[in-house]
Order: sequence, then structure tokens, then C-alpha cells
Amino acid sequence: MVLRFFSLSISSSKSKRLTTNNYFFTTTTTTPPFKFLLRYLSTAAQLPLQSQSNNNFNSTPSIVPLTRSLLSPRPCPCPFLPLNNNTTFGSLRPTSRCFTTTDQSHHRDSINYDVVIVGAGPAGLSAAIRLKQLCRQNDVDLSVCVVEKGAQLGAHIISGNVFEPRALDELLPQWKQEEVPISVPVSSDKFWLLTRDRAFSLPSPFDNKGNYVISLSQLVRWLGIKAEELGVEIYPGFAASEILYDSNRKVVGIATNDMGVAKDGSKRETFQRGVELKGRITLLAEGCRGSLSQKIMGDYNLREKVQAQHQTYALGIKEVWEIDESKHTPGSVLHTIGWPLDHKTYGGSFLYHMKDRQVSVGLVVALDYHNPYLNPYEEFQKLKHHPAIKRLLEGGTVIQYGARTLNEGGLQVNETLFFVLRNTFVGIEN
Ligand SMILES: Cc1cc2nc3c(=O)[nH]c(=O)nc-3n(C[C@H](O)[C@H](O)[C@H](O)COP(=O)(O)OP(=O)(O)OC[C@H]3O[C@@H](n4cnc5c(N)ncnc54)[C@H](O)[C@@H]3O)c2cc1C
Repeated sequence: MVLRFFSLSISSSKSKRLTTNNYFFTTTTTTPPFKFLLRYLSTAAQLPLQSQSNNNFNSTPSIVPLTRSLLSPRPCPCPFLPLNNNTTFGSLRPTSRCFTTTDQSHHRDSINYDVVIVGAGPAGLSAAIRLKQLCRQNDVDLSVCVVEKGAQLGAHIISGNVFEPRALDELLPQWKQEEVPISVPVSSDKFWLLTRDRAFSLPSPFDNKGNYVISLSQLVRWLGIKAEELGVEIYPGFAASEILYDSNRKVVGIATNDMGVAKDGSKRETFQRGVELKGRITLLAEGCRGSLSQKIMGDYNLREKVQAQHQTYALGIKEVWEIDESKHTPGSVLHTIGWPLDHKTYGGSFLYHMKDRQVSVGLVVALDYHNPYLNPYEEFQKLKHHPAIKRLLEGGTVIQYGARTLNEGGLQVNETLFFVLRNTFVGIEN
């Protein structure tokens, strides 16, 4: 099976190099892998898996605040235990999550879920939403939790973004009727070759018709709300730092990191053990080069098993600027190649006009550059001083900045959907 879960991916490119770049990777197939998961979980729980559909997504919200702490004291009786045999969740059955308290000094608290998802990016949240939708359609209730290391949802998502809505059309077809942060359609699409002081317009290799300029972190926050409305539990501020195995080396969940550890490794007064989140299924949706994903791939030799090629990476540096109203053209999209990068360095820049006088400008540099003295950050500074870019930014203010790696490898790197003893990866960034 090809790894084709939810990548809310954007532009389509016709250039050879760009089509293998997941940056422009588009995925569509969403249902079959989740049906598989649901079937597995239903069988394991001996729950009925009916085919009748119930698409009433909004009727039974069970909203857990996004700021909820995993470590806060819990009332008794434990809220993670099924309420009682007669309790229903709307038309659904009670969940099977369960909470065990253990000695804080040595052991960790442990919470059981049906599905534990690591990473609240587009992939992790879409997976959670889809699972809950399938639960409703099949009159099954599975407990699903998502753990996110960013302090808030979207805090680690810096992509400012030309967004292709096809995957969202499939996942939440009613999105246009809601207050979704997708409001600026692409209005123009330019592609320039830059030299030190000139810009040559080239035919655009992209087809961004029907796409939108968005902030992906805002979209992720909105997906978080949708997931919570469906009963997904989301825990921001907790990094999954360890894979949990049972005695047969099967993955049984993850553990969050210990808190209150001093630099020298000693325990501060505030020390608290991490928490074990155990799942019958664990989905890793950590994005580019996730630490747990790397470990699992190494432990089980997953790349070697499917003869996948090695992954390649790039660094994306981005700033959001507020610019002069007269220079702002909402929906305008510009990509450049050439200067400041030399011809041996793969990469290019982007400049997207969002709403509210904001533009998102950035440089992506593939990390296989030959010149050891090349500094991507300095190249980005040079880019902003190019006459064609400077003109636009002059008089403006930087309001946000960040950098993040992204995968450059395409399908040849991720040929197969890995099921590691009932656990899997979602997204495109493994
Ligand atoms: C500068 C830049 C510009 C981009 N522009 C575009 C664009 O225009 N169009 C496009 O299609 N794509 C673009 N991308 C790529 C796009 O951002 C990614 O493809 C997309 O975000 C991948 O989604 P994901 O859910 O797989 O991973 P991510 O979005 O990376 O989400 C992973 C989440 O998991 C969390 N996490 C990771 N490890 C752990 C852990 N151990 N415990 C808890 N939480 C964890 C992270 O904090 C993060 O929130 C861009 C990327 C960058 C860097």
C-alpha cells in the first residue's frame, strides 16, 4: 500500500525536481487505511461494525479544552474509566479509555486509549477526525487522543502556505459553510528567475487555480476544534519522548517526557514523571524527521525492508511581514529560483500575499548543498535585499519568523505504508 494519508498539500508542479518534493505532494486516498484500523479495533473490542452511515458530525460534542493538563489531579471516580455499562455517548457506546494511578516517585501514570496519535499537524488531526467520523458512521466509539509538543496547536507549524483544498473537501465537505481560516483565493501566480539585481519572468510551472493562500497554523487550530467536537482528546504541550513496547517488542503506546529535570540531569523540586499513553493503535504523525518515527524505522529496519531510498531534507526559513496597503495584493503568489543560491544549490523562495496586509516570505534551501560555508539564514537576508523584493518589504514590519526542515524525497522514499505490529505512520514527513 502506498503511504497516502492526509497531506493537506498544495501546489502541483510540473518540473521534475519539484514533483518529487513532498512540498508539492498531493494525496487523496483517505478512507481505506482508516477502515482497516477501524475494522481491526472493532474486531479486537468485539464491537459491531455496521455499514449504515450517520454523518451528523455536530450532534454530540464532547469538548475537552485544548489546554487540559495530563498531569493535573483527576477527580474520583476516574474520568478515564467507562462511566457504566448503560452510559452512551450520544448514540455511541462508551469509550474504552482507562486511567491508572501509580507511585509518582518511580512509576508513571498510564492512560489507555484505543488510538494514540503523536503530532497535531494536518496529518495527525485529519487522522483523528477521520477515525471519529468512521466511528459515528459505524456506531462504534473509540477513544482517540492526540499529543502535541507545541505549547498550543499550530505553534510548531510555520508553513505559510498555498493550500490545495482537495483533501479538506473529502475530509470535511462542509468547510466552506464554516468560519474556516481559508479565505484568500490565489489571484495571480508568478515565477521569476533572479540574478543579483534583476528578475526575469518565466512561465509558471505551477497550477494554483482553485488554491488558497492560508496560514497553516491557523488551519491546524481550526482542525483541532473540529477534532474536539467529534470527541478527540488533544494534549498540547506534551512531547512524546519514548516508544512503549510490551514483552514481545510490540508497540503499545508512547510516554511523554519527564518535567522538572535540571541541566545536569538531577531532579528539581518540580520534577514530575512523564505519562504513559497506551493505545491499541499508535499513529506517528510527527512531521519531518520525527524522533520516534526515526527510532521505529531504525528498530524495525523499515527502509531496508521495502528498499526505500534515503530521505533528503531542506530547510525552510520564513517571515511574516505586514506591508504597506498600496503594495498588498491578496492572493498574489510568487516563487523564485536562482540568486541568491548558486547553480549547485537546490532551492528557491516564495512570497505569498495573505489577508490583512500580511505577506509570507521565505527561502527553502536543500540541505545537500556543496559549499560548506553556505549559511541559509544569510542567503535569506540577501534575498530580502534583492531590488524586486526589497521594493515590496520596504517600510513594512516583521511580525513572525521561524524555520523548519521539510522533506525533499517523494514517493520513492516512502513506498509503503508501514504497519509496525499494528502501529503506523501518517503524513508525508517520515
Ligand atoms: C517554510 C515552509 C513552507 C511550506 N509551504 C508549503 C506550501 O506552501 N504548501 C505545502 O503543501 N506544504 C508546504 N510546506 C510543507 C508542509 O508544512 C508540510 O507538508 C505539512 O505541515 C506536513 O504535515 P504533517 O502533519 O505531516 O507534519 P507537521 O505539520 O510537521 O506536524 C507535525 C506535528 O507533530 C508535532 N510533533 C512532532 N514530534 C512530536 C512528538 N514527539 N511529540 C509530540 N508532538 C510532536 C509537531 O510539533 C507538529 O505540530 C511548507 C513547509 C515549510 C517548512
